[in-house]
Amino acid sequence: MHELGIAQNIIEIVQDQTKNYSNRKIKNVFVKVGKLTNVLNDSLVFGYDALIMGTNLEGSKLSIETVPAKIRCESCGSESVIDGLTFCCDQCKSTSVKLVNGMELTVFEIEIEDLSEVT
Ligand SMILES: [Zn+2]
Repeated sequence: MHELGIAQNIIEIVQDQTKNYSNRKIKNVFVKVGKLTNVLNDSLVFGYDALIMGTNLEGSKLSIETVPAKIRCESCGSESVIDGLTFCCDQCKSTSVKLVNGMELTVFEIEIEDLSEVT
């Protein structure tokens, strides 16, 4: 289950990004996951929830946005969203294409609660 390793990576990124806010609670973590990474969203959330127990991220929620796979044609320049593994231009059917989106795995937003407002 490679989702567990990915969840661990996400947690490390969040902890690194929020190290100056260690007295605050992390509320939400938003990630973008490319379709071609073959990550199962449910497994990723499951792994995340299990790994954050006992850390400063406990109680936070992982939100996943799936990014569709997109290619750019090197012959005609048009972009196509691909479904499955056929790397072929929608317009001219050329297979000389470059992958634009679909392999990313990025933490793009971290929501932190300001504890001084709560207490
Ligand atoms: Zn084309």
